[in-house]
Amino acid sequence: MNQTDIQNLLDEPACDHNTAGKTGCARSKPGATQGGCAFDGAQIALLPIADAAHIVHGPIGCSGSSWDLRGSSSSGPQLYRMGMTTELSDVDVIMGRGEKKLFHAVRRAVERYDPQAVFIYNTCVPAMHGDDIEAVARDASKRWGVPVIPVDCAGFYGTKSLGNRIAGQTLYQHVIGTREPAPVAQGVLPTEIKIHNVNLIGEYNIAGEFWRVAPLFDELGLRILCTLSGDARFREVQTMHRAEANMVVCSKAMLNVARSLREDYGTPFFEGSFYGFADTSQALRDFARLIDDPSLSVRTELLILREENKARAALAPWRERLAGKRALIFSGGVKSWSVVSALQDLGMDVVATGTEKSTEEDRQRIRELMGENTRMIDDNDQGALMNTCREVGADILIAGGRYLYAALKSRIAFLDINHERDFGYAGYDGLVELARQLALAVHSPVWQRVRDEPAWLQTGRTVKRLLVEEV
Ligand code: SF4
Repeated sequence: MNQTDIQNLLDEPACDHNTAGKTGCARSKPGATQGGCAFDGAQIALLPIADAAHIVHGPIGCSGSSWDLRGSSSSGPQLYRMGMTTELSDVDVIMGRGEKKLFHAVRRAVERYDPQAVFIYNTCVPAMHGDDIEAVARDASKRWGVPVIPVDCAGFYGTKSLGNRIAGQTLYQHVIGTREPAPVAQGVLPTEIKIHNVNLIGEYNIAGEFWRVAPLFDELGLRILCTLSGDARFREVQTMHRAEANMVVCSKAMLNVARSLREDYGTPFFEGSFYGFADTSQALRDFARLIDDPSLSVRTELLILREENKARAALAPWRERLAGKRALIFSGGVKSWSVVSALQDLGMDVVATGTEKSTEEDRQRIRELMGENTRMIDDNDQGALMNTCREVGADILIAGGRYLYAALKSRIAFLDINHERDFGYAGYDGLVELARQLALAVHSPVWQRVRDEPAWLQTGRTVKRLLVEEV
């Protein structure tokens, strides 16, 4: 991949705010990779394809520091969780053995695990060394009869977001459109319901959260050809070109796939989210609108009415406990605005949101939800973030796991919203789960205990004396 390819990827025409200057291979600053490099972004986007082998071509560190970091769940194969790397050493580089090692790594993966496909990821060292991973992929694929997909995503190409786009472009060039979908199974739904094919792009099924939404699609007769890439199978990705409508679930990741499908196959797409009532209902309505089937529109409205009423009743006790509580959200990209909407559904007050990794489009959505003067935080410095929490009187910090201990040490309630989380918050049921987890975190009795003045300060007794008394 050269500088022009990188510039083209950064220049995404489907993005409404595609106006700022672009730089590829920018001079790095200390801490710049804290949010992940291009390799990390590409791997995040593709790794959940569960029945494929994913081989990282590079030194052990690239694989070791990124393996299995995200909680994408699979309902079947677990091969994607097997860490595979060529583990290049300095001697391999000096002796020029990179391509050979990669070729044998593919052989080993195919012979041992029988994958449906093999993804090979380029990283900084072999990219600088000039290893031709496309040629290796071509030869290995011919030799073992399994699709081998080269993903040219060396970390120094740019950010994690660029890596997402590289992943999307790779799938579009090598995988999508190479198979036709299986015929629709008969007798699953009443004959009067017409089945429509759809895709979800940028849905990663973290903590299995998409499984909360999938039954609604089944009921409406929307057959999901592929969720790119949570709980995906390689053959599903191959059939994505046959969808009647696409939803881009994460606004930044893989918008280029949706745009290319629209340009080449005429498939319309919309951007949306499954966090909160309003967004979940809107996403279902948008599918009905794009597919333009009157029966689907009527059934969608009935389903929304039923699900919203059911979830409202389940939320009532939690809503009482959360109303008026102040939350600070520090999460990147789509979550910087989609979770705002979910919290507003719960009657909470979102006092600030992090925009470190948000696009201009994400920022615009935040302004629409929270007003023009909303506080957006760009700085990911933990100390500064904790000061902001205190300044705005936040009752809870909603952020990624790396802020957990900073929040706890600052005696602020915390909820993990990022990819390591244990609970799924998508859809109507997911909002009830989110409310439950928020209420448990905010009302934990531990906060009163740790915020009270220590006993020795109240009474003037020393710690040593207190310990003696306890003994
Ligand atoms: S690809 Fe490059 S930047 Fe990314 S982890 Fe490997 S060495 Fe680091």
